[in-house]
Amino acid sequence: MSDQEFTRTLGYANAAFDLLKRSGIPPYPQFYELLYTYATGVNPSLNNRINAIFRSGTVPSSELAETLYNEFLKSDVNDRMSSVSERMHARIEAVHDAIDTAMTTANAYSGSLQSASGDLERELDAEGMKALSLRLLAETRRMQDTNRQLESKLEASREDIAALQRDLDDVRRESMLDPLTKIANRKSFDEGLADAIAAAADGGTPLCLMLLDIDYFKNFNDTYGHQTGDQVLRLVAMTLKSNIKGKDLAARYGGEEFVAVLPSTDLDGAVIVAENIRKAIQAKELLKRSTNEKLGRITASFGVAAFTPQDNAMSLIERADRCLYAAKRAGRNRVVSETELIEIDDASERDASAA
Ligand code: GH3
Ligand code: MG
Ligand code: MG
Repeated sequence: MSDQEFTRTLGYANAAFDLLKRSGIPPYPQFYELLYTYATGVNPSLNNRINAIFRSGTVPSSELAETLYNEFLKSDVNDRMSSVSERMHARIEAVHDAIDTAMTTANAYSGSLQSASGDLERELDAEGMKALSLRLLAETRRMQDTNRQLESKLEASREDIAALQRDLDDVRRESMLDPLTKIANRKSFDEGLADAIAAAADGGTPLCLMLLDIDYFKNFNDTYGHQTGDQVLRLVAMTLKSNIKGKDLAARYGGEEFVAVLPSTDLDGAVIVAENIRKAIQAKELLKRSTNEKLGRITASFGVAAFTPQDNAMSLIERADRCLYAAKRAGRNRVVSETELIEIDDASERDASAA
C-alpha cells in the first residue's frame, strides 16, 4: 500500500468512526462498513439517502442502519448462497428419510422371511402353506412399493440436486463479478493476480499490471449525475475488456479505478495495450441516452508496472499505483510506466539538488 493510499483509507476509516460516534450507532462491522462506504463516496445513491437522513434531522437508529445495510451493501449473492444451501439441506434430509423408510421396510421383510423359513421347517398342511405364501406375497409387494417410492424420491432428488448445482455455479460466477460493470470484481482480481504471479515466478515469464483511473470523474458526476456516471463506468469497463485478450484479466478495482493483469506481456507490450485503451476511451463521444445530449469526452490516466521475482501482489500494485499517480501529476490522460517513473524521479532529484 502506498503512503498516499494509506493516508486516504485512514481518512475514510476516521470519518466512518466519527459518524458512528456522533450518531450513536453501535460500531458493529456491518455499520462500520456502511459508514466507511459513505465516507468514500463510491456509492452515490447510498450517500444521497444518508445525506437526506442527516438533513431531515432524524436520529439514526440501529434499525435504520440495518435497513440501509441490507438495501445497499448486503450482497444479493449471499442471500442466494444461503437459499441454495437451505435447499441442499432440505434435499439431503429428504433422501435420508427415504433411505430410513426403505431400511425399516427391508428389516421387516427380512424378519418375515426368517419367520417363514421357521414355519417351513415345521410340517405344514395345504392350508398352512397357502396362508404362508399369501403372507410372503403381501410382504414382497410392500417391499416392492417401498423400493419404487425410494427410487422415485432418489430420481426427484437427482434432478433437484442438478438444479441446485447449476444455481450454485451461477452464484459462484456472480460472486466474482462487479454488479455494475459485469467485469471481474476486486475479489477475482486478487485471485487472478495471485495465480498470474505464481505462474510468472514459476515459468520465468513476463507479467505486467496496468492500473487505470478516470480523470476528473467527480466533476463529471457532479455535472451530469451519478446515473450517467454509472453508464460511463460501464463504457470504460467494456472498452478495457475489448482491448485485452486471452489470459489477460480486466477488473474493477474500486470506484472509478480499473485494473488489468497482463501475463506473458513485457513492459513495452503493456504500454502499447494501455495506450490503445487510453485512445479508445478518449475517442468515445458520450451521449446521454435519454436525451441524446452530448456530454463531451472523458479521459483516463494509466500506471503500468512489470513483475520482478522480488515482487508480491502488494509491491506490484504499489508500483503501478505510483506510476498512475505520476500520470495524474504530469497532467492526466497519459500512460506512465516504471521506466518513465525512474526518469521522472531522476529529473525531480536533479531539480531538487539544483534548487
Ligand atoms: P482524478 O483525475 O484525480 O482521478 O479526479 P477524480 O475526480 O476522478 O478523482 P476523485 O477520487 O476525487 O473522485 C472519484 C469520483 O468517482 C468520486 C465519485 O463521485 C466517483 N465514483 C466512484 N465510484 C462511482 C460509482 O460507482 N458510480 C459513479 N457514478 N461514480 C463513482
Ligand atoms: Mg480514483
Ligand atoms: Mg479519478
